[in-house]
Amino acid sequence: MSQLNGRVVLVTGAARGQGAEEARLLAAEGARVVLADVLDDAGRAVAAEIGRDRAVYVHLDVSGEAGWGAAVAAAKDAFGKLDGLVNNAGILRFNALVDTPEEEFLEVFRVNQLGTFLGMRAAIPELVAAGGGTIVNTASFAALAGLPYVASYAASKAAVVAMTRVAALELAADGIRVNAVCPGGVDTPMTDPGLLDAAVDAERAGAGAAAGAGEFYRKVVPMGRIGRPAEVARMVLFLTSDASSYVTGQPFVVDGGWLAGTRLFS
Ligand code: NAD
Repeated sequence: MSQLNGRVVLVTGAARGQGAEEARLLAAEGARVVLADVLDDAGRAVAAEIGRDRAVYVHLDVSGEAGWGAAVAAAKDAFGKLDGLVNNAGILRFNALVDTPEEEFLEVFRVNQLGTFLGMRAAIPELVAAGGGTIVNTASFAALAGLPYVASYAASKAAVVAMTRVAALELAADGIRVNAVCPGGVDTPMTDPGLLDAAVDAERAGAGAAAGAGEFYRKVVPMGRIGRPAEVARMVLFLTSDASSYVTGQPFVVDGGWLAGTRLFS
């Protein structure tokens, strides 16, 4: 049986990467999905691929209060209600803490932290009106363990975990469960090997070793590889479905064992 029959779920950052995979999987499990992003052509293409009866696309910059009302209204117009939200949109900027400009820090804050807050605030009245629902916020491995060169990103994702706990407590009585996913390295445009190499190269400056992204994940991740968007999407499905009916307020790590520690031999 499909796990999400009758559900209506809004997924932000759904034009590509993990968000697109999450929208596809939720729809495949019976949900009707509202895909939101700033990449309109790509977002419309994913919605069309899922099918007009199951998916609509709406332009939404998650960092602005104004767009959220329209996105929630689009969900209700298309499918009559909203009872699920996946706050997935996010951006990453690599920089040494000492070199991070204020505007870059605030840019990451606005999308990752403020965007998640605005999304929950906009969706909650509809989830209450629907008689309950689920919110899945996207945090990161970097919220739970130190990672160099991502001060703005790590701070924003730690805040996402903190807000997830607060929201879960405030909304439990309304039948709304709020959880977070904390992916490790996942193979999407965000983890463009060029960007990753820049950080790794900076870390290893002087060692003379040119480390590729594949080699990096083989060494640091106990499972020896980068994750796949579908592997995060399956956790989002679990947290959106009744399979997780007694689960709220928690961060769920999907990282191939990275947070658990290091292997003795790689
Ligand atoms: P991605 O860059 O492929 O996708 C991010 C999506 O968010 C894009 O479609 C982008 O257009 C959209 N987006 C960015 N800013 C937006 C805004 N202001 N409003 C609306 N949409 C916006 O990256 P991804 O890996 O699929 O990332 C998805 C989520 O997972 C992000 O929150 C990211 O921080 C998180 N994450 C990713 C990794 C990883 O290794 N890829 C690891 C941990 C957490």
